[in-house]
Amino acid sequence: MFEVLSEKWPEILDFFKSEYDVSDVSFKTWILPLEIKSVEDGLVTLVFTGPSESQGLKYINKKYLSFLKVSICESLDEDLDLQIILPNGEMDNSIATTNESKAQLLDRIKDSNLSEKFTFDSFVVGSNNNAAQVTALAVAESPGETYNPLYIYGGVGLGKTHLLQAIGNFVLEQNPEATVLYTYSESFVNEVIDLLAGKHTVQEDIQRFRNKYRNVDVLLLDDIQFFSNKDRCQEELFNIFNDLHMKHKQIVITSDKIPKDMEGISERLINRFEMGLTVDIQNPDYETRMAILLNKAKQEPEIEIDNAALDFIANNFISNVRELEGSFNKLVAYAKMKPGTVIDLDFAKDILKDMIDPNNKKNITCESIIEIVAEHFDLTTKDLISDKRSADIAWPRQICMYLCRYFTDDKLETIAKALNKTHGNVIYGIDKVKAAIESDPNTRATVEVLKKKVDPE
Ligand code: ADP
Ligand code: MG
Repeated sequence: MFEVLSEKWPEILDFFKSEYDVSDVSFKTWILPLEIKSVEDGLVTLVFTGPSESQGLKYINKKYLSFLKVSICESLDEDLDLQIILPNGEMDNSIATTNESKAQLLDRIKDSNLSEKFTFDSFVVGSNNNAAQVTALAVAESPGETYNPLYIYGGVGLGKTHLLQAIGNFVLEQNPEATVLYTYSESFVNEVIDLLAGKHTVQEDIQRFRNKYRNVDVLLLDDIQFFSNKDRCQEELFNIFNDLHMKHKQIVITSDKIPKDMEGISERLINRFEMGLTVDIQNPDYETRMAILLNKAKQEPEIEIDNAALDFIANNFISNVRELEGSFNKLVAYAKMKPGTVIDLDFAKDILKDMIDPNNKKNITCESIIEIVAEHFDLTTKDLISDKRSADIAWPRQICMYLCRYFTDDKLETIAKALNKTHGNVIYGIDKVKAAIESDPNTRATVEVLKKKVDPE
């Protein structure tokens, strides 16, 4: 790494100078006198041989350290730390205070109920979440001033909580004075229920509860659908909302639906939700899924992972990032148990065979279709694969053939085998169903219903 860094050093400095618009004189005075001392355990140490020693060191630390660090990490594509020392090994003591404030920041993150791992940096942007990410960032950059409330909705596991928390983390980092509160709606609801049910609840308790939510600069409310049919909680929320909104404090909400489709939520609250901006997060497309996986793979440098394995995950977990991540984590966990394991396609197929997304067409098999059809017609799978030829069994069996052909890539022979029939039987059966779909509305309806059962997507 030392050699790589030395070799790239001139290039890094060029990048640094132009990217951050550093004047010639500053560059000559402060940057050129830096020499690479070592690269160890992810820490780059530079020695400053320039003017006014410790004062100079203080100055470059304050003014350039983070930019230099970014320039180095970007050009080496590595996550490295950077320190600058004097030739006698002396360090800038004031840096300790910035470390201190890093600890303080972590405390504030915790106090705000946030997890520091959900940041904008770790959020992969794709066409499915672009709008949500851009608006979330705008809100984080100037809370209370752009979209208020920001309302983010979308299906399970698509990154709503991640973005919501990223806003909180960003605000805390940018502004040491800011107060942020992340609340899962269910906890809010439980707090209200506890207050109402408490025998000894006094006005003070209620006031304390209200103050907690009203004295913040940014309120992040996750999974608002939990307020459904909880009238008293909605009333509390309504008042808190109005109070914050009036004071230009930022509110960000997530939900599984757009406001107007929310059931069991009062009209006036829905109106409030609609006052700002509503953005959605959709299912990630293939490229985004791959990007998320590649990002995760980068965080596991000690494990060799074939792209074919990632491609397999990306193709099988299509509608939920949490599951996509979960399957990746499972592979890594198994690989770590046996040092030297390469995560390749076969390994991925084997380890993940029980987790394959049931919504995915790939997992629709003749067997699963036979089960669904049997259940629909109140038969057993045994009936369907038996020799019985009575119409009440033969007809559902032919529908099975049709659906197997429709949903799977299986050859006619495979379908015939699954149903214990001949190739000719299958061709005949499929044609018969096709013709009936054309001519008979009842058959058409039945087949439609069954298609939905087989693939609810
Ligand atoms: P939701 O709240 O919508 O159910 P989460 O925010 O909990 O979903 O996301 C589920 C998991 O997927 C989290 O671990 C999150 O970090 C990850 N995730 C979702 N979207 C992305 C993304 N675009 N980039 C990186 N990680 C993501
Ligand atoms: Mg969530």
